[in-house]
Amino acid sequence: MKKFALIGSNISYSFSPILHKTIFDHYSINATYSIIDNSNLKSILSLIKENNIDGFNVTIPFKEEIIPLLDHVSSEALSIGAVNCVKIINDKTYGFNTDYLGLLDTFKKMQLNLNSKNIYILGSGGAAKASWKAVIDCGGNPIIVSRNIKKNDFFKNTSIISYEELESSKGLLLINATPIGTYPNITLSPVNQRIVENFDFLLDLIYNPKETKFLKDGKFFNKICENGLFMLISQGVNSEKIWNNIEIDTNSIYSNLIPIIYKK
Ligand code: NAP
Repeated sequence: MKKFALIGSNISYSFSPILHKTIFDHYSINATYSIIDNSNLKSILSLIKENNIDGFNVTIPFKEEIIPLLDHVSSEALSIGAVNCVKIINDKTYGFNTDYLGLLDTFKKMQLNLNSKNIYILGSGGAAKASWKAVIDCGGNPIIVSRNIKKNDFFKNTSIISYEELESSKGLLLINATPIGTYPNITLSPVNQRIVENFDFLLDLIYNPKETKFLKDGKFFNKICENGLFMLISQGVNSEKIWNNIEIDTNSIYSNLIPIIYKK
């Protein structure tokens, strides 16, 4: 039996065990997926070795800290500066960023053609960095919107604008890569309602609640809206593809999980 895990600190709430169990059931994979919740990364990595784990996902707060501790890191993960999926082969660790792959799949689901289009990304944290890389790799022109527009060495050759400047900006897609709108402050949006009018598509990386204030405002103006659930599921599916070398239909896993996650 293969063994997989999610590592992080204060992560008992995670949907990942349900997601991976669903994939194991659908594709008859004989495996377990457990949570390793600990605040010390080196102790976690010793546990991983002792328990002969075959692969693991990485979440808050270790996505950056783990990079120098791995044997190999994919070029996408290096340019984003974060790893969220590790495969172990013959005691060697290989790091990937499947959040980035989840974003590419989400752009496809939304039928977006980003080529030469201005794509505005709210926030400058880990999810914003993965979005920035995904937008560039789809030929788009990312613009970061931040509360702090001083020079940021990470976002090379990219404009960083303030929320005030966003008020007079227009683009194809606006991505919320901040935590504003998630529980418990679900009545908040990172931007004023009238800002969403200047975009055709809205993507909120938050998946809980299902429809944030940001997306409700988008619907009010008849914009094409997507939440972060497909990205979440796709990053899990892409982790399984890396670990088990199999093809998985993300859409069918997504359809199966919607009623479980949103308890419809
Ligand atoms: P993070 O590293 O904490 O970064 C969030 C960014 O949001 C910060 O860098 C900050 O940018 C901005 N921000 C934080 N507090 C804010 C506030 N009070 N007002 C305005 N802006 C604020 O978080 P993250 O890991 O990037 O995650 C961001 C969101 O994406 C979370 O809700 C997370 O759950 C979601 N996410 C979803 C998926 C998925 O699979 N769907 C995957 C990853 C993350 P500035 O300082 O530049 O303003």
